[in-house]
Amino acid sequence: MPMTTDYLVIGSGVAGLAFALEAAEHGDVLVVTKRSADESNTKYAQGGIAAVLSDADSFEAHIADTVRAGAGLCHQIAVEICVKGGPDRIRMLRDIGARFDRVDGATNGDPDYDLHLEAGHSARRVAHAADMTGREVERALLAAVACSPRVRMLEGHTAVDLIQMAKYGGPEVCVGAYVLDDASGRVLTVLARAVVLASGGAGKVYLYTTNPDVASGDGVAMAFRAGAEIANMEFYQFHPTCLYHPQARRFLITEAMRGEGAVLRLTDGTAFMKGHDPRGDLAPRDITARAIDFEMKRTGADHVLLDITDKKPDFVRERFPGIYEECLRWGIDITRQPIPVVPAAHFMCGGITTNLEGRTTIPGLWAIGECACTGLHGANRLASNSLLEGLVMGHRAAQAMASTLDRSRPWPDVREWEVGSATPSEEAVIITQNWDEVRRLMWNYVGIVRSNTRLRRAARRIALLQEEIAEYYWKYFVTRDLLELRNIATVAQLIVECASSRRESRGLHSTSDYPNTDPKLALDTVVKRGVPAHLRGQ
Ligand SMILES: Cc1cc2nc3c(=O)[nH]c(=O)nc-3n(C[C@H](O)[C@H](O)[C@H](O)COP(=O)(O)OP(=O)(O)OC[C@H]3O[C@@H](n4cnc5c(N)ncnc54)[C@H](O)[C@@H]3O)c2cc1C
Repeated sequence: MPMTTDYLVIGSGVAGLAFALEAAEHGDVLVVTKRSADESNTKYAQGGIAAVLSDADSFEAHIADTVRAGAGLCHQIAVEICVKGGPDRIRMLRDIGARFDRVDGATNGDPDYDLHLEAGHSARRVAHAADMTGREVERALLAAVACSPRVRMLEGHTAVDLIQMAKYGGPEVCVGAYVLDDASGRVLTVLARAVVLASGGAGKVYLYTTNPDVASGDGVAMAFRAGAEIANMEFYQFHPTCLYHPQARRFLITEAMRGEGAVLRLTDGTAFMKGHDPRGDLAPRDITARAIDFEMKRTGADHVLLDITDKKPDFVRERFPGIYEECLRWGIDITRQPIPVVPAAHFMCGGITTNLEGRTTIPGLWAIGECACTGLHGANRLASNSLLEGLVMGHRAAQAMASTLDRSRPWPDVREWEVGSATPSEEAVIITQNWDEVRRLMWNYVGIVRSNTRLRRAARRIALLQEEIAEYYWKYFVTRDLLELRNIATVAQLIVECASSRRESRGLHSTSDYPNTDPKLALDTVVKRGVPAHLRGQ
């Protein structure tokens, strides 16, 4: 028997939880999430949430900063809605118990938030909880959701694919999803009045990433398979400095360290940033990431060094206590030794095309947060705008759905998951090998700087890997690893397709074949199953 619910939410990061909390005022919510409820990109967010919270700031300034970062591709209306929705969302978080750092002496009304100034922002506007903002936001949202009797959370459950009536000769509408219970290996059929993808980013498509293991682009891949429109996948943001250590995966070294005088060096000790930008080590994030990538490719080294040993040890320990401790754990005393670093995939600016209520191009299917493409980020994300987007869009989608929820509709008759002639896998090594191949080829061929030749090679290899994965998928029982592999291969295909169709360099997409920005190409890249990627006006 299928499970039924009003709202099926796939993912328990900031977007999914913000939606669930509000949707539960109108209907029953089932949240499925791959691992523990808090495991998400959200949990690892350090910096904070951008919102206009002080008299010294203005919506106009936040809008202008966002649009400037987006390199000509932001949708003005999406920017305005997200920016103007920010202060209320911060208040909501405060009301459910999120503790943001405050300046002493807060009086009536809004507290006096201790707002950070971040690169690209022209005013202090980043609300934060020390350097663990995401953890605090996730904690508060999970606690609030746990108090809501209409929200049910299924941890260790991985959505496999969407259920569509078109398969049964009905209209093009999404009515639920198949969901794998990781512990039992059983695939559940879940029917819902609305399905909300809140499955986050896809950092795992690259060899090095700041994202946790859950970030395998499942929502984008599922939506693509279902026939939804996907946009702007070529714009993947890389963080320039992630600790390079075999065991210490995805530990981010804040850019504030360069702000305090740390110097990027080659492994032989040569400082190199001045040769790439007159601002040297203070160049913006994308330029720094490109410079490191260039030097790594030129020298064949697998990392570069970030050196803060010129500063007094007490200053370093006091200013960067978290990084000092974490590096020490791996045997690196940053007061005496340079830190091995690599750039790492950080944030997916593209995703499933949605309107400003989170509706995708498939009726019944919604997408919010990092898996969606609303037009807010354009070709490059302004730091700290992504938690903001998850909160605003979670709220807007819940509001829009409340007015259209139709509980009188009978549940459709759909087939349960069929195992067919599948058997338990005997060759898990194929999965690990293919995981590694996709991530490595994406890093080497479709990373920070692209070229036509490398993109063509990547496309050929990904197509071959997809054939092998499909064969494996139909032959053996599904597991989370296999599902994730199938999804990262699809995301890889989409990034390559979008990147290949953009014949210019813009924002986060940089190609040696078309090094300049072409003003005529200030268009979104859209792609759909059966329709090749192409550029289209807003
Ligand atoms: C290290 C780091 C630092 C960052 N710092 C900041 C910052 O300071 N400010 C800022 O604004 N942004 C920051 N970001 C980006 C920001 O954290 C994310 O963009 C945002 O949290 C995404 O929220 P989300 O709800 O869309 O997805 P996530 O928080 O990633 O949640 C996705 C959820 O979906 C689940 N899921 C995925 N696939 C499936 C499936 N098939 N079935 C079931 N569940 C599934 C996952 O398990 C997870 O629960 C940072 C990101 C990282 C990695």
